[in-house]
Amino acid sequence: MAPAQSTIKSLHVAVIGAGAAGLVAARELRDENHSVVVFERDSKVGGLWVYTPESEVDPLSLDPNRTVVHSSVYDSLRTNLPRECMGYRDFPFVPQHDDESRDPRRYPTHKEVLAYLEDFAREFKLVEMVRFNTEVVLVEPDGLKWRVQSKNSDGISGDEIFDAVVVCNGHYTEPRVAHVPGIDSWPGKQIHSHNYRVPDPFKDQVVVVIGNFASGTDISRDIMAVAKEVHIASRSNSSETYKQLPGSDNLWLHSMIKSGNEDGSIVFENGKVVQADTIVHCTGYKYYFPFLNTNGYITVEDNCVGPLYKHVFPPALAPGLSFVGVPWMTLLFFMFELQSKWVAAVLSGRIKLPSEDKMMEDVTADYAIRDTHGLPKRYTHRLGAGNVQYLNWIAEQVGAPPGEQWRFQELDGGYVRLATRPDTFRDKWDDDHLIVEAYEGFLREKLIKSLPSELLESGK
Ligand code: FAD
Repeated sequence: MAPAQSTIKSLHVAVIGAGAAGLVAARELRDENHSVVVFERDSKVGGLWVYTPESEVDPLSLDPNRTVVHSSVYDSLRTNLPRECMGYRDFPFVPQHDDESRDPRRYPTHKEVLAYLEDFAREFKLVEMVRFNTEVVLVEPDGLKWRVQSKNSDGISGDEIFDAVVVCNGHYTEPRVAHVPGIDSWPGKQIHSHNYRVPDPFKDQVVVVIGNFASGTDISRDIMAVAKEVHIASRSNSSETYKQLPGSDNLWLHSMIKSGNEDGSIVFENGKVVQADTIVHCTGYKYYFPFLNTNGYITVEDNCVGPLYKHVFPPALAPGLSFVGVPWMTLLFFMFELQSKWVAAVLSGRIKLPSEDKMMEDVTADYAIRDTHGLPKRYTHRLGAGNVQYLNWIAEQVGAPPGEQWRFQELDGGYVRLATRPDTFRDKWDDDHLIVEAYEGFLREKLIKSLPSELLESGK
């Protein structure tokens, strides 16, 4: 039963970040009648998808005092998921055929994702809520409220009190670097994929790429077009792995690196040795909340942010502090939308959270399940096979319909294609029937006016 109107609260809420998570959080909070200020340190919306040719001066991003470049997008990047399943549920990511500057492909470029997010911000009048060029430098509890300190690009500082803070600062900016024995004496160059933009600097080089998931496979293929040799090292390969990859004459797959040596050689666990010029670490990112002061309550340990009830609310600080966008290997935009609806409704009092103790019990039980399955801590927020259950659980909390079958099937099939056919998955697929289901669903929900001409022409 809906609670009486008088119990519904309208709060003053700070959102940190105007990327895909912060934008939809702002919309949902405003739609729930909260007053919202979005702090964004960049000059535009879009977060990670705001490509810049600039990268950080420190190529491994190890210097804590470096000037941070937020985006990790490289020039050639196309999405790693099909667009139908990637967008927000109520604002589908469909091709804009009437605008020639747009990329209509199923796996479009990063520019198309940014254009989509700009369309979303325009459609829902979100830009008005954003304070651009303003970085949040401190978030801490202040009695039952929250202090937010910020500084803008003119050096002007702000010190404000909010009823609640929603953290949407993105998790693909602070690199994780692989440990390679002997690397300190190895004389070559090292760079993390966060700072990779174009292949040109690797011309004629022998390059070792560590990591063989989305960025690793993309970047190694980008580089092989100009490099002399590219060697991919991956800890998910057995120690004997050594093979030349099909469709190339200069790309090899190896086991992990055993050591780097003073003479410039890199020795792999499979016994192969190469004289390498550069190592590119495509080894992922760390959660990082440099502005957050919770007196040690929230910690990040081996990439586990905790404690977080359902990856969103820290039990002792809920609902005033929440996080949108922590889980990965999932339908991110769809998840941001659901998590944001949940946060907005919990803050207004329309939805109640369990007691602090019950939330802690749930977190502990979740950790225990992961331990039983032998999953390392760093996989705490990797939804993987738990996707459907997690997303549908939040959908149920907020009274939204469960995720569509085609959406989950596109995600699963998309990941399989990415892993098994990294060089062709963006242009060849075998799930046209899911595209049809997706567009028929958009039409039924009146999210598009008609089926795209390609679908009609092909008689599907
Ligand atoms: P971000 O987009 O990173 O936005 C965070 C925002 O917070 C930024 O605008 C930043 O400037 C701002 N900010 C940070 N700190 C502060 C502060 N202290 N004060 C003020 N503002 C601050 N996902 C997909 O769904 N499909 C893909 O194909 C895909 N490809 C990817 C490829 C790469 C190489 C990477 C790294 C990620 C990819 N992702 C993909 C995941 C991607 O991160 C998400 O799609 C999504 O953009 C994350 O949105 P976000 O809002 O959580 O974070």
